[in-house]
Amino acid sequence: MDRMTATAAVDRVFNFSPGPAVLPLEVLEQARDELVGLPGVGISVLEISHRSPPFDRILDDTVACLRALLGIGPDHELVFLQGGASLQFSMVPMNLLRGQSGPADYVVTGTWGQTALKEARREGRVHVAYDGVGSGHDRLPSPADVRLSPDAAYVHVTSNETIQGVQFKSDPDFGPAPLVCDCSSDFLSRPVDVARYGLIYACAQKNAGIAGVTAVIIRKDLLERCRDDLPTMLDYRTHVKNGSRANTPPVFAVYILGLVCRWIRDRMGGLEGMARHNAAKAALLYDCLDRSGGFYRGHARPDCRSDMNVTFRLPNEDLDKSFAAGAAARGLVDLKGHRSVGGIRASIYNAMPLEGVTRLRDYMLEFQASHGG
Ligand SMILES: *Cc1c(COP(=O)(O)O)cnc(C)c1O
Repeated sequence: MDRMTATAAVDRVFNFSPGPAVLPLEVLEQARDELVGLPGVGISVLEISHRSPPFDRILDDTVACLRALLGIGPDHELVFLQGGASLQFSMVPMNLLRGQSGPADYVVTGTWGQTALKEARREGRVHVAYDGVGSGHDRLPSPADVRLSPDAAYVHVTSNETIQGVQFKSDPDFGPAPLVCDCSSDFLSRPVDVARYGLIYACAQKNAGIAGVTAVIIRKDLLERCRDDLPTMLDYRTHVKNGSRANTPPVFAVYILGLVCRWIRDRMGGLEGMARHNAAKAALLYDCLDRSGGFYRGHARPDCRSDMNVTFRLPNEDLDKSFAAGAAARGLVDLKGHRSVGGIRASIYNAMPLEGVTRLRDYMLEFQASHGG
């Protein structure tokens, strides 16, 4: 089968899943074409030694491409870890809070920030600098709402709250303490000024690839805080020292991350182009909400709406359900909101094509017209 027939043989739907999420078709096709044997190697990436020169090339190219895309300078290390973003909820305080005199400040703008805070409490002293739970996490704090500690070990934020659909529109600014950011659900969706961060972490399976690999970008001077009593594999220095190969890395996940990085660089115009593409897609849906006369009600306040996860409700839960079911029947799948928020959530990450979003918008207009909106 040639490439065209093979693709056409699979009826792909538009996948609005919050994660694992849609991948670029070109990436899937390349992975398929190379699955049985990497070109010039004759061994599948699924069976390759992580100590072999071909895998060295895959890992080094992925690191180089990611560093170039994000503009990671010489002050920061980049490592690939396992355990998902969830393990970082613990590794961050284990490495950066233990032995520090001040507490870790947490700015909680949604469910993931809440979970990060809960894990940090097990590791040391934390201070809740802001918690938006009172308003259902529908907004970001204004500067006056945030109470920072004068001697914070670090300030933790979540750039995009995947469940509530609330996103910082630019790099957050919370004073002089090192800024630690969970970027899992908007990683590589737009340019980021890495120099402003102490540590950035992101699992790959939302915007950048598949589950199994988590990128951690850490400022070199913060590595001096890591203590020798940490378990070896939970110490950032282990992974930096061993070039992300302290043990067997998830080779396939690293390979896919590399393909996605090249797709962003070569096909999408880098992170600037990616950001324009993502903003245009999100605007289509938010315009539709705003013009619906209240039929579709957005969860997030307009000034902090996420370009990645568009959350909204219909007039009642029965309509939420029939909306999602009708969408699925048209090949627009996985639109049900998270059980804690309800309603609808359209996750429109990097790889969601404009056509998928246009079709969803058209369906929203049609559904409203036929349900008395
Ligand atoms: C998905 C997600 C996580 C959890 O990632 P895992 O890899 O499943 O541990 C953490 N933070 C944010 C913002 C997420 O979107």
